Amino acid sequence: MIPEHEVKARLRAAGVAVPRGVTAAGPERVAEAAAGLAPPLVLKAYGPGLVHKSDAGAVRLGLASAADAAEAAAAMRERLAALGVEAAGFLVEEQAAPGVELIVGLVRDPGFGPVILAGLGGVWAEVMRDTAVRVCPIDEAGAREMLASLRAFPLLSGHRGTPAVDLDALAGLLVRLGGPGGLWEELDLGEFELNPVIASPGGAVAVDARHLPV
Ligand code: ADP
Ligand code: MG
Repeated sequence: MIPEHEVKARLRAAGVAVPRGVTAAGPERVAEAAAGLAPPLVLKAYGPGLVHKSDAGAVRLGLASAADAAEAAAAMRERLAALGVEAAGFLVEEQAAPGVELIVGLVRDPGFGPVILAGLGGVWAEVMRDTAVRVCPIDEAGAREMLASLRAFPLLSGHRGTPAVDLDALAGLLVRLGGPGGLWEELDLGEFELNPVIASPGGAVAVDARHLPV
């Protein structure tokens, strides 16, 4: 499995916004590595056997300083070890502003070839099955149509006093994945799952990313 921070580096190179972050081989290295990041910080352990990180207790949000992240990493390593999981390393990153969590994916459909999908993320995704799918490549108008077709669109466009998210940024993210020259052209190497992308009035950030090699 390709570590999350490497997948995010690939996304960043493709123009997709990801949180600023650093890695550390062990808890002893966390404070120094994370010194340049702006809190609140997020700590994640990575390693073989750590696929659904939150289920394993391998994600901590809202850490107030690099020192707090280091302390949390030591505790996390202990807890994981008790479960028989060894953390190969830690990712510390800046916590994105709260917003609407979306799932975005690039997958190869057996009939249609490369497709991009976007939908409401988190627990809502499972309950609502609210997803838009398009064959790649898409353009900006196509990306906006995808978003507008979601039942959850009012959550994105502003509803009863909740502010609209940055739809330009969100559509731009979809185009950098599924548009001309986008990441979809690398689908031969495997599928991408961004879960979640957090869309807020300030932008759209992929805070988790997985690459599933073929
Ligand atoms: P999992 O492997 O469990 O999917 P994630 O990396 O998606 O782990 O983290 C779990 C949850 O924590 C995410 O769904 C998101 O709500 C939150 N989260 C993770 N990273 C960040 C971040 N950098 N900024 C804000 N929220 C985050
Ligand atoms: Mg996730």
